[in-house]
Amino acid sequence: MKKVVLATANPGKLREIRQLLSGLPLALSAQSEHGITGTEETGATFIENALLKARHASAAAGLAAIADDSGLEVDILGGAPGIHSARYAGPGASDADNRAKLMRALAAAGGEGEAGGGKFPARFRCAAVFLPAALHPAPLVAEGVWHGFVRAREEGEGGFGYDPLFFVPRQNCTAAQLSAADKNRLSHRARAFGELKKHLAAADA
Ligand code: IMP
Repeated sequence: MKKVVLATANPGKLREIRQLLSGLPLALSAQSEHGITGTEETGATFIENALLKARHASAAAGLAAIADDSGLEVDILGGAPGIHSARYAGPGASDADNRAKLMRALAAAGGEGEAGGGKFPARFRCAAVFLPAALHPAPLVAEGVWHGFVRAREEGEGGFGYDPLFFVPRQNCTAAQLSAADKNRLSHRARAFGELKKHLAAADA
């Protein structure tokens, strides 16, 4: 089993990533188990930020690292909150703070949303990376996108982050109303980690 540190402190993401990588010959540990805290996400893209997190955790733990960086892009808000999704309402913002800010922004942006239903086109995006060692020159990188709509009202108790505001048309419910198994079949993270698994198999990593 290859020892790998998971470079996230977000419990919702940790839970999903562990499930998505189950079955691989990897002994996964959370960065918190090594006493590692997050690093500044100064990149301009999801991929850059995922690499920054992976490199930081890999250097500190002396292990290979897996990280993701993800966020929500809302068309009517010019792609916001985007790479700033985790701290949209300011440093240390909670998921509830971020959702409240998004609902205010949608109300301020006005418009009726898609077909007058108050649904605004949006997507979740995820970049996932595997870094064999902190200074390794060729990390494995994959991306995934999940298209849907955001609405200015919360529905559902599951998931985390913006899930109660993210409406998934094909399932006719929010991401927070999906079972954990269904979310992990459909989500941006599922798609990115599905690709990453293929790269891992091809690289025999
Ligand atoms: P990161 O930890 O910098 O990647 O921040 C990702 C942020 O984007 C999270 O804190 C959430 O606010 C949001 N986000 C990413 N993925 C999801 C998801 O699957 N559901 C809901 N919110 C998400």
